[in-house]
Parts: sequence; C-alpha cells; structure tokens
Amino acid sequence: GVRAAAQPLQNADELIDSVETFIFDCDGVIWKGDKLIDGVPETLDMLRSKGKRLVFVTNNSTKSRKQYGKKFETLGLNVGEEEIFASSFAAAAYLQSIEFPKEKKLEIFMDINIASSVNPEGLICLVYVIGEDGILKELELAGFQYLGGPEDGGKKIELKPGFLMEHDESVGAVVVGFDRYFNYYKVQYGTLCIRENPGCLFIATNRDAVTHLTDAQEWAGGGSMVGALIGSTQREPHVVGKPSTFMMDYLAKKFNILKSQICMVGDRLDTDILFGQNGGCKTLLVLSGVTTISMLQNPNNAIQPDFYTNKISDFLSLKAA
Ligand code: PLP
Ligand code: CA
Repeated sequence: GVRAAAQPLQNADELIDSVETFIFDCDGVIWKGDKLIDGVPETLDMLRSKGKRLVFVTNNSTKSRKQYGKKFETLGLNVGEEEIFASSFAAAAYLQSIEFPKEKKLEIFMDINIASSVNPEGLICLVYVIGEDGILKELELAGFQYLGGPEDGGKKIELKPGFLMEHDESVGAVVVGFDRYFNYYKVQYGTLCIRENPGCLFIATNRDAVTHLTDAQEWAGGGSMVGALIGSTQREPHVVGKPSTFMMDYLAKKFNILKSQICMVGDRLDTDILFGQNGGCKTLLVLSGVTTISMLQNPNNAIQPDFYTNKISDFLSLKAA
C-alpha cells in the first residue's frame, strides 16, 4: 500500500517511549564528515539515561569498527565498538553467516558442475577485495584470507600481445566497496574471478550513488565501483549495507530485539529510511544531512518516513503540548 506522508515530529517522548532501540545512521545524523552535529552528545546521553539501546550503522566501508570507535572517541562521544555496524563489518559478517570456507581444503578445478551457486565447502576460500582498509581489517578479524585492497593493481601493466592477467582460482567471493584507489586492473581481476567461476559470490558493501567527501559538492559514491563490476560481469551483487535487510536481521538476532521496537533514524530516503521500512521498524528522517524538506515532499518521492525533524537534538525540546 501507499504510505501516508511523513509527519513532522511533534512529541519526541511519545516516539522514544514507543521503542527500545534506536539505530542511528552516522554521516548526516551524528556527524558531517569530521564535524559533530549540534546537540548529539546530550541527545545520546538522554536516550541512554532512559535505558534505550543505541546502535550506529554506516554504509561507509572505508573504516573498520575499531577505526569508527576511535572516530566516536575523537568527537567526544561515548560509543563502544560493539555498538557500531559499518558495511565493512557487514561484508565479513555475511561471509561468516554463510560459512564461507576460511581454508583451502581441495584444489579447485574449473568444472561448472562443481562450482555451484553456493560455494561448495573447500573449493573456494579466498576473498578478493576492491575497497579500502576497513574491509581488509574486518576480514582479517573474522579470519578470512584476502587479496586486493587499496594498494592492488596500482602498477602500470604493459599490454603486450599475448598478455594474459592471471587470477587465483580459489577466489570464492569478490567484495566491492568504496575505493579511492579504484582502477581498471582491479575491475579486470574481479571480473575474471566472477566470470570464470560461476560459484563466485559478488558482494557489495553498499550502492550509494553519491557521498559527501567535502561539503562543497557531491562525490561519486560506492555505487560507482559496484556499477563497474555489474557492467563487466552482467551479474547483480548481493548488497550487505543499507537498505538491504542483512544488517537489520543481524542486529535483531544479535540483540534479540523485535523490529517493531526499533526506530531507524537517518538522513537518506533510499538507504536509511528504506532500510528501516524493509525491516518493519519505525522511521525518522532528519534534515541535518543530504535530504531537504522539498526532496521529501517532492511528488516524485515515494519513500515517506513515519516522522521527520531537523536534527536528533530536537528530541530534547519537542515535548507534548
Ligand atoms: N560511503 C562513503 C564513502 C561515505 O563517505 C559516506 C558518508 O560519508 C557514506 C558511504 C554514507 O555513510 P552513512 O551511511 O554513515 O551516511
Ligand atoms: Ca547518512
């Protein structure tokens, strides 16, 4: 059915009392780039004093949970690593959830009948990463072996007649995230892994079209790197970040929470609000990030959160009349 138009948040206490967990998106809600958004520490303290569980979910895969822990600390926020769920972590958690093999047990042989769509145990075990340090750190912590990463493919390759790029046939998953060191040879390597092994998984941390590396303009987001691999492989990736349900299901299970007891708070309609709605949660859009009120109210926009407000510190002032 069609959702009702979003309502301006008027009684914050009513919303707060109606849920036990808040999932906060990070960029545009907690911070903007490296700058804390006004009133965030006081708001988080108030929610904690009311006994609410706080969880932080970001689609930015460039950092690990530990690296985000440092960022929260630098900004003066009291948030533990175990409360942070980045799409870098989600990629590793997904591989764990499907019991992706960590050790090579048999030699792979390129037989289409053997390489099925779900990785057969022991046949394929390596992860090829197009992405930055956060993904590598999370894979390492989860015990996975990987190839690639930011440094990969930087050397100029001389394409002499007969040149053939070799690839490791035991790569069973290609993980693609935001990568400022992205290049053509990474695309070719990932494409070989996926095209030559029909059982190879194609995982995207997120598909954000744009990001805000600086506040002066919009920059090409993780979706641009993922798009290159879709173009060359003609396969669709399995997305683990927002708005896919993977992280929501993971969180609900980990913390044993009912999704109806969660309020998802974010600044983007196509990632955050859809993530909350796909999960059956309450949703609150804040206007402290990329979405403006006119974007929300544009007749072409079909994604309507339950509520909207300027910023999360409105929780401190919006009381029942
Ligand atoms: N991906 C990258 C590379 C980013 O820089 C950002 C925001 O800074 C995002 C994704 C979106 O992050 P979030 O989900 O915290 O809004
Ligand atoms: Ca955001």
